[in-house]
Amino acid sequence: MQAYQNQSIKIHNSLSGKKEVFEALNEGHIGMYVCGPTVYSNVHLGNCRTFMSFDMIFRYFKHLGYKVRYVRNITDAGHMVDDAEDGEDKIAKKARLEQLEPMEVVQRYTLDFHNTLAKFNLLPPSIEPTATGHIIEQIEIIKEIFEKGYAYEANGSVYFDVAKFNKTHEYGKLSGRKLEDMITNTRELTAQDDKKSPQDFALWKKAEPQHIMRWPSPWGDGFPGWHLECTVMSTKYLGKTFDIHGGGMDLKFPHHECEIAQAEASYGQPPVRYWMHANMLTMNGKKMAKSTGNNILPGEIFTGENELLSKPFSPSVVRFFMMQAHYASILDLSDDAILASEKGFTKLMEAFDAISGLKTGDKSDFDVKAWEQQCYAAMNDDFNTPILIAHLFEAVRHINLIKEGKESITATDKEALQQTINNFVFEVLGLEQKAGNAADTEKLSGVVEMLIQFRKEARENKDFATSDKIRDQLAELGIQLKDGKEGTTFSVS
Ligand code: AMP
Ligand code: ZN
Repeated sequence: MQAYQNQSIKIHNSLSGKKEVFEALNEGHIGMYVCGPTVYSNVHLGNCRTFMSFDMIFRYFKHLGYKVRYVRNITDAGHMVDDAEDGEDKIAKKARLEQLEPMEVVQRYTLDFHNTLAKFNLLPPSIEPTATGHIIEQIEIIKEIFEKGYAYEANGSVYFDVAKFNKTHEYGKLSGRKLEDMITNTRELTAQDDKKSPQDFALWKKAEPQHIMRWPSPWGDGFPGWHLECTVMSTKYLGKTFDIHGGGMDLKFPHHECEIAQAEASYGQPPVRYWMHANMLTMNGKKMAKSTGNNILPGEIFTGENELLSKPFSPSVVRFFMMQAHYASILDLSDDAILASEKGFTKLMEAFDAISGLKTGDKSDFDVKAWEQQCYAAMNDDFNTPILIAHLFEAVRHINLIKEGKESITATDKEALQQTINNFVFEVLGLEQKAGNAADTEKLSGVVEMLIQFRKEARENKDFATSDKIRDQLAELGIQLKDGKEGTTFSVS
């Protein structure tokens, strides 16, 4: 018997706006698709939050014994600047500005994405398909949408006919919009627009002569519309209807709405049973975003090299900070908030370390079984990690009382307590003890600062052999020194 058979999970389904009891389409198996990054620049902490939320969900399903096929794509073509369909492709623009091949841009930022998520201890998805690897499938589905009568060609581009689709389907049902309102609130088409209506969206865009990312198609050279890749890759690997589709809240409209329209138009069935949306990480009360510059890169938080931060924070502390908020709530990043998380995380780790040394007795003052059930109940209630963490701190309180001799615990309960904390803290929340030890991080920074000072003195005495030796040997250990106007800083890779 698998653990999931004893648990009933409720998920907030963005489509119904309600918490629903989760039932897997195929017993014991879960198909989950999450929109991945557009790889044209470094991922920021906001992006990381969304991927961390779905990593926690993936981990919990696996913990319960489900076989999960988790598909998270890489958008390496088709996503236009400012999401406007007449703009430039984000990757092509970066390639032009930096005089790189588009695929060099893709490679660079895909590597950055993988390295960053690995630092935060995210598990790799089961499949990580790319948009450019599925051009043929995208062309095929456009043909199918054409055959069903929901697409039209204009000047080498192909558009989805939203008004026609809306006659027999409900465009806007995910984001709670009505087509009539959208029509009233949107701008008029300009003379250059090929679309019949502003609500229509591109399935295929004609490539102008200067456009470097282009593929041949029945409609001429061009490239696929952004929404199409997710419809194609999710259904190719998970089936025409699958269990869970996730992404950040900002993707609900138009991206996910268009995905629903494309899938229903071509396959005649709803693609997703549970739509899940993770909420935004904000900074100074505003959404963290690449385009506005209101963001922090993970590297800056690990080294503390950002004016918002008073010190560096380890990946596990940042992850713990994220997990202290429910995935569907907005979370604001501030130095004070992460400092508080660091304190909490250290307390949790210290208590976990203390369990093995606890003396046992013939009775328990702490009902470990009931507490474990509360931990599961929190996770079953739409993955409520803040409530789970509150329960973990209830255990911390008991561990400390037992340590002080004010409460007692049996050997069996002690073992169960250690196992349950291990399950929830490391396996489900994905925290790591080694990287999370704040005391060690502080010690490391103290030692490196001392060496920076020795190096400075050596340079002042023109002893460059010693100063270079300090820099080089630190580099061998993966600690890079950077000399700047304000003095020398360091980063750990
Ligand atoms: P992008 O690379 O811009 O397509 O974004 C990748 C993922 O990060 C998407 O699921 C976005 O919804 C999500 N995302 C973008 N900005 C934020 C933010 N400030 N907080 C949380 N998630 C975000
Ligand atoms: Zn997507």
